Amino acid sequence: MTTSTDIHALLKAHFGFESFRGQQEAVIWRVLGGGDSLLLTPTGGGKSLCYQLPALAMDGVTLVVSPLIALMKDQVDGLSANGIAARFINSTLPMRDIERVQAEVRRGDVKILYVAPERLSAPGFQRFLSGLRVSLIAIDEAHCISEWGHEFRPDYRNLRQLRSMFPRTPVLALTATATERVRRDIVEQLNLQGAEVFVSSFNRANLSYGVRAKDNVERQVASLLERWKGSPAIVYCFSRQETEDVAASLRARGVDARAYHAGLGAEERRRAQDDFSRDRAAVIVATIAFGMGVDKPDVRLVVHTSLPKSVESYYQETGRAGRDGLPSECVLLFSYGDKVRQEFFIKRIEDEGEQGNAQEKLDQMVRFAQLHSCRRRYLLEYFGERWDAEECGGCDVCLASEERGEFDATEIAQKALSAVVRTGERYGAAHVTGVLVGSREKRILAAGHDELSVYGIVKDLDRGQLREVLGLLQARGLLALNDGEYPTLRVTDAGRGFLQGRERLSLPVLRTERRAAARLFDGESLEYDAELFEELRALRRRLADEQDVPAFVVFGDVSLRHMAASRPTTAEAFTRVPGVGQAKLAAYGGAFTDAVRRYVEEHGIAAEEPSAPSLFVGPARANGQRRSTRDSTRELLARGLSVEAIARERGISAKTVLGHIESLDRGGEALEVGHLAPPAERMRRIEEAFGVCGSAFLRPVWEYLGSEFGYDEIRVARVCLRQSGRLEG
Ligand code: ADP
Ligand code: MG
Ligand code: ZN
Repeated sequence: MTTSTDIHALLKAHFGFESFRGQQEAVIWRVLGGGDSLLLTPTGGGKSLCYQLPALAMDGVTLVVSPLIALMKDQVDGLSANGIAARFINSTLPMRDIERVQAEVRRGDVKILYVAPERLSAPGFQRFLSGLRVSLIAIDEAHCISEWGHEFRPDYRNLRQLRSMFPRTPVLALTATATERVRRDIVEQLNLQGAEVFVSSFNRANLSYGVRAKDNVERQVASLLERWKGSPAIVYCFSRQETEDVAASLRARGVDARAYHAGLGAEERRRAQDDFSRDRAAVIVATIAFGMGVDKPDVRLVVHTSLPKSVESYYQETGRAGRDGLPSECVLLFSYGDKVRQEFFIKRIEDEGEQGNAQEKLDQMVRFAQLHSCRRRYLLEYFGERWDAEECGGCDVCLASEERGEFDATEIAQKALSAVVRTGERYGAAHVTGVLVGSREKRILAAGHDELSVYGIVKDLDRGQLREVLGLLQARGLLALNDGEYPTLRVTDAGRGFLQGRERLSLPVLRTERRAAARLFDGESLEYDAELFEELRALRRRLADEQDVPAFVVFGDVSLRHMAASRPTTAEAFTRVPGVGQAKLAAYGGAFTDAVRRYVEEHGIAAEEPSAPSLFVGPARANGQRRSTRDSTRELLARGLSVEAIARERGISAKTVLGHIESLDRGGEALEVGHLAPPAERMRRIEEAFGVCGSAFLRPVWEYLGSEFGYDEIRVARVCLRQSGRLEG
């Protein structure tokens, strides 16, 4: 019997994840229980895991039917890299290999077998299947069974037979299709009576949407690409000729762009697609012929240079951005002429009903382009979903209104002022915001402030945003600072009046609101070391090329960002990175931790900061620093040299020297650092800030002090404070 511990253990061991996302766990239990299901989740929602994980937990082999022949090899490589026995059978495989794979499956050596739908009608293949113990039938891209969908595959009709061959085997149909009609068709065509349907929101929270008036396509595209420099992008064009023209003009500007359209030979198309997915070309300029069969997880920008023919197409095509959950942008260049151009084709449709239908779909798309309200809401409502948020924080309309706007701050102001009153008007902003969000910090618990009615009453803003609110309330004269040693807050008479009265208060929209509104997946809010990220990316590229696999088979961007934030130098730390399971730890752990160690050494950075405030509890030791080099830093320090002088003397950077000093300090060594301390008044303010923030972490102090103080100055001051016993931690 499978338990919850088992599936969590499999999740960590093979996929390197700590927890399930969305409805994954529910779907997995349903499958393990033997029932049929239909899973409707937008692209990037993590559907694959819903069959890959049960496959590991059950006896027999899981069949995965997928039309994406070009992707099967990559998917199988990805699973193999996670230590999962997977194979595929499709027309690209020579007969000899097919026989070999079939033998492996018969022996029970394979857990997951990908098959192309057209296989199912081959008699030999059916004989092969009938001798197997099949644990699960997963039907990926299940909308291909529907004629109403945009990607109908007649071969998918064969799937009914599969169903009757294995009447007791659970079926899991998966699709990112948002239209109701197609959904109903899937259930009917696959005979999924009694199937449990799992639907999640079709909001792609990590995508932002924008529309610009089209003037000079080539310049507009170039400037968008410029902003996402070097990141993978897809540019959709109306005609074959346009893809060629735009690609050529981008190449002339030094962008490595490839054209892709149905007029190219099969080999040429394959090469363009391959170059894109292997990161040899960052930009693909394509007609809508390009898409099916692109599974690139890290596309950061999708541009439409002309109007799509329906909202469905638009959602589908923009959906190819940001599969990995990281922030990505979708831009439509709109001109009225493009509408007219589409109508020219619609007028030639003979069937009157179809013509009317096409016109209506186009009109809905035009409406999207001309909206003065939230575009995300329009998209979701189009697919029958409700969207209640006032503003989405991730479309051009909402962002523009935020820029001008104010928001009704009555409630938040009442909460904030109450928190100041309830904590006795004796604390600084850091403490008050901590109470409001329900922080478990020691000093808050020690003061008993977790007992207050205001504790944890703010759910929708983070501490940075609350700090901004407190600042605005000060500016409005509702809060003020107490005189005295520390900058603690008190409520003014005006503030008390406001608390008792009934008037409303508006404040300018928070600078930070934007980021919070579009809540993104894991990895988005992570602050990471961009330079280290680039080094890890280069390493990933090298490893992927050596093994002739796409980069994501080694690691996705999310994993790399976590590495660049937490700087793991040990196997233990490395396993904590999302996406690192046992197989990847064994295969890549050495290479990546070595790279991090080398980087840490060269830059003399302590492993914990400034980039990893939330990932690890307590400061990690900088493992990478060799004894001798730190010792010579100490000697020079004892001779009274400044950080810069030591750096010059030793031919290393000042940052490295500072890293050595911090690491010696944390190792408990007595150092002569008096001469490094900032001037007395500045030192006093830094010490005060550490007091207000209540921990020895740098980042909050640095934020608290504002731009007047540099990061390194605070680092030095912290060492001085520790050495003189005025700061702990
Ligand atoms: P879909 O097929 O729904 O488009 P995928 O199965 O390709 O989505 O998954 C999208 C991304 O989400 C992949 O990079 C995958 O590794 C990641 N992912 C899936 N499940 C989880 C999870 N539980 N925790 C973290 N990342 C996950
Ligand atoms: Mg998928
Ligand atoms: Zn919006």
